Amino acid sequence: MAERITGHTELIGLMAYPIRHSSSPAMHNEAFATLGLDYAYLAFEVDNDTLEDAVKGLRALKLKGSNVSMPNKTVVGKYLDKLSPAAEMAGAVNTIVNEDGVLTGHITDGIGYMQSLKDNDIDVIGKKMTITGAGGAATAIEIQAALDGVKEMSIFNIKDKFWENAEKTVEKIRANTDCIVNLYDLDDKDKLKEEIADSYLFAQATGVGMKPLEGQSVIPDASFLRPDLIVTDTIYAPRETALLKMAKEAGCKTMNGLGMMLFQGDAAFHLWTGKHMPIDHMKEVLD
Ligand code: NAD
Repeated sequence: MAERITGHTELIGLMAYPIRHSSSPAMHNEAFATLGLDYAYLAFEVDNDTLEDAVKGLRALKLKGSNVSMPNKTVVGKYLDKLSPAAEMAGAVNTIVNEDGVLTGHITDGIGYMQSLKDNDIDVIGKKMTITGAGGAATAIEIQAALDGVKEMSIFNIKDKFWENAEKTVEKIRANTDCIVNLYDLDDKDKLKEEIADSYLFAQATGVGMKPLEGQSVIPDASFLRPDLIVTDTIYAPRETALLKMAKEAGCKTMNGLGMMLFQGDAAFHLWTGKHMPIDHMKEVLD
């Protein structure tokens, strides 16, 4: 008889819509199988209308936990018992942990980004970074970077519907951390150049560089760069955005979003199982 799933197997869910394209089930199940852990990870099509019932189901069925993705990340918190400090500040949850019936919401995207920096021997703690973006990915990074001890952060975004969110993020960082943080209009390219020139690291965390904005870059040309600047992009499809290509040609150390994706998964995996993913193996599988 097949023994992969037995009466003892613990279930981890993923609640989002649409979700069939996600690489998370394959990633987590590969890690469970490689480590011989008796867990299974399944994706469930859950939107805002069915989210409350899905969380009740998670409690009733005693799932070990779940990932949460769009459109539920900013909504699910109200159905949980507790939030991690980062999830509270970000106003978003991507991971639920069920500890004896107590559901805690965490956000691991920012942890994933900070861990992927470490994995690339990049140490931004106590230094200044400039970051573009005010959406889900950017907010998680900005809050985690400030909590972890980045000294100074200059945030840039266009004045779209995300601008208000950027203002709220700045307020929360100022109220809860010692990080010196300022917000600027991404259309002010002179200011962007000035802030990047003063930074150890430039992090790109908008959708500029992937479809439908593939081939575009938030900086207009290589005069914004210098060889000792580190340039990162949250985008991993394509693996090398126009920005990262320009940065590589300018001699900068670069990092794409694949590590953030892997390590946000690893942080959730660790919260559920107490163990880390087999990182080297996962890198081979994901690449
Ligand atoms: P989002 O929709 O929440 O935010 C979009 C952001 O892009 C906002 O800051 C918005 O102002 C900005 N933006 C949109 N169009 C723009 C334009 N024309 N010019 C300048 N800025 C523009 O999206 P998100 O979930 O934060 O994702 C942002 C990027 O990060 C995406 O490319 C996504 O693929 C990537 N991402 C990566 C990971 C990972 O694990 N590596 C995780 C989440 C998101």
